[in-house]
Amino acid sequence: MSKVYYVPWRQDSDMVGKFRKIIRKSNILDNINKEDRVAIKLHVGEYKNPAHVHPLYLKELVSALLEIGCEPFLTDTTTYYCGNRFTAVGMIKNAFYHGFSLANIGSPFIVADGLGGDEGFSVKVSSPLNEIYVPSLFKEVDKMIVFSHCKGHGLTAFGGSIKNVAMGCVTKKSKLQMHKFVNFCYDESLCNGCDACKDACGRGIPILKNGKRVMSLEKREDCMHCPACMEECKTGAIKLKELEALGRVLPRAVEGIFKVIGKENVTSINWGANIVEYCDCMPFPGKTLRDNVGIYLSKDIVAIDKAFLDDANKNTFMIDGRPDPEIQTIEGEKIGIGTMDYEKIIL
Ligand code: SF4
Ligand code: SF4
Repeated sequence: MSKVYYVPWRQDSDMVGKFRKIIRKSNILDNINKEDRVAIKLHVGEYKNPAHVHPLYLKELVSALLEIGCEPFLTDTTTYYCGNRFTAVGMIKNAFYHGFSLANIGSPFIVADGLGGDEGFSVKVSSPLNEIYVPSLFKEVDKMIVFSHCKGHGLTAFGGSIKNVAMGCVTKKSKLQMHKFVNFCYDESLCNGCDACKDACGRGIPILKNGKRVMSLEKREDCMHCPACMEECKTGAIKLKELEALGRVLPRAVEGIFKVIGKENVTSINWGANIVEYCDCMPFPGKTLRDNVGIYLSKDIVAIDKAFLDDANKNTFMIDGRPDPEIQTIEGEKIGIGTMDYEKIIL
């Protein structure tokens, strides 16, 4: 059974102060040694979307790490789709705009996957993913703290610690590889020819023929399964199929990262606040799905996501036909990256 430390959210309480205390009262930093290189993996969020972890919580974590005498730094990887986080330069600017800077937090932000976002090496993982590409930076870290904002997600229903590591600690090549497990179906009878999908797609793939959407045959191979077109389609003409595929694949990517860093060297923090409809990678948060739940800390990446989903109610995330978010934890337990059996310790 794994321990999950928890601080319930209270709007009339100093949550940053409580977070400061829980870091020191729990055992989550007790494996970190003086002079360790500690990567803090966060999602810096898409420019202008305010729904990401608040920098004040990162600042508290960094000061606790600096007290130990180790060398913490913030990190994230560039996106596989075009946008302002596609290159390292864009990512650093984005991190700065959202408050994740040395001046604000007390430790620098370093892009993990190189200047072009394609630096990495191959790691074998279990089927059906089989292989991922991990940035070399992760070979050089001693410990990693995964700091995740808990929110909804258009493809996997929920994004927590498993999603943060799986999609956020690999190169562009593996991000695309994982997204290709998701497929779409198209119902022509529901298409009103509004063109929104075409406008949303940076690759010019949806075209209109006789007032209806079709996928351009010449460009279909370029589709990144992102799925901006589906999210812009308000008639339901574009829908996901094989809904659970990506959720099954994510824990396999975590398996690969753990092979590089060592499962015992990874600690997770789930920030269960500002729980919105869309992932931090979208330029807008969408609707609020529920009130803030609290902050979770654990050395078990499966247990922490399971504990949050139990408290938040997984049905909260199963909107608009989105899949069961617990697939991530069930599959994670199956391949041995953690356990769903946890003891919740309220601090
Ligand atoms: S999923 Fe849609 S928006 Fe994304 S690349 Fe493919 S056609 Fe374009
Ligand atoms: S956004 Fe939907 S309704 Fe509009 S053209 Fe595309 S598929 Fe058709």
